Amino acid sequence: MRAMVLRRPGEALQLNHLSVPKLQPEQLLLKVSACGVCRTDLHVVDGELANPKLPLIPGHEIVGTVEAAGARVTRFKLGDRVGVPWLGHTCGHCYYCRSRRENLCDYPAFTGYTLDGGYAEYAVADPHYCFFLPEHYSNLHVAPLLCAGLIGYRALVMAGDAETLGLYGFGAAAHIIAQVAVSQGRRVFAFTRPGDVEAQGLARQLGAVWAGDSTDAAPEALAAAIIFAPVGSLVPVALRTVRKGGVVICAGIHMSDIPGFPYAILWGERKIHSVANLTRRDGEAFLCIADKIPIQTKVRAYPLTEANQALSDLRDGTLQGAAVLECGRECDNEIKKAPDGPGLREG
Ligand SMILES: [Zn+2]
Ligand SMILES: [Zn+2]
Repeated sequence: MRAMVLRRPGEALQLNHLSVPKLQPEQLLLKVSACGVCRTDLHVVDGELANPKLPLIPGHEIVGTVEAAGARVTRFKLGDRVGVPWLGHTCGHCYYCRSRRENLCDYPAFTGYTLDGGYAEYAVADPHYCFFLPEHYSNLHVAPLLCAGLIGYRALVMAGDAETLGLYGFGAAAHIIAQVAVSQGRRVFAFTRPGDVEAQGLARQLGAVWAGDSTDAAPEALAAAIIFAPVGSLVPVALRTVRKGGVVICAGIHMSDIPGFPYAILWGERKIHSVANLTRRDGEAFLCIADKIPIQTKVRAYPLTEANQALSDLRDGTLQGAAVLECGRECDNEIKKAPDGPGLREG
């Protein structure tokens, strides 16, 4: 199968021809149709997240169909369309798993980080962490829901009943979450990179009542703000935007350092909250909402082999919405001739 492989953080992905991963009894083998490109992939590829599996196939917004199922699998059947998110495995017995916070598990595994992901024609996954996907979305358009949507939704839940919501960074996650927030009756304020009139136009089109530069003051004090951009200097900016009792939610896995700020802007019971990973319940809840409200995901499709270009466009901020790799391609002969052994081997 063709796969885009990270050999060393900081280097470009390499197109490799690998054997199809060997299926374990408790796994699904998926033929990958599409895989979203998330900002977290960029942090992994750029070496900003410690200790990735190497070599690694990145990608944790996988849409695929079940090609084969291990002997112990009962949850999905051949041909089912399945979504694979970032959370790939949890231990089930640590303090966090036992207290229904598996997103904080002490012994987790993450798709496209500590497990191989979906920048490939085939992938294996643990069915207990996979999702059924709402039928009316195409493969390309459902892919960004699997992380940008899902972890964005976890961040939105942390905003509680905030009726006014600021979104800092209007990319893949914000353009999805803005639509969910609007459908819940919230008023959305979109803050983009200074001068990004295209993103501001998209925000208004998706229902934001106001869109402007991240350096602009909001027209009113907001109840909550979510920061999707990995920019620590936005934390004090957002704190100045929220009213007393308001919350600033940092939704990314990585952020540049947060500069010092006066206590006065935190005073008044304002809070700063980070969002880590997802639970399976978050996924079920969000995909149920996505089934009811038709979320328009704006995607730019790239062939699998153009993964480096997709990452580079994301890094440069030249994308509107989400980048998605189209991975589907027949290579059944390779499955038949694949030898036993670990997945990531050049064949
Ligand atoms: Zn655990
Ligand atoms: Zn992600």
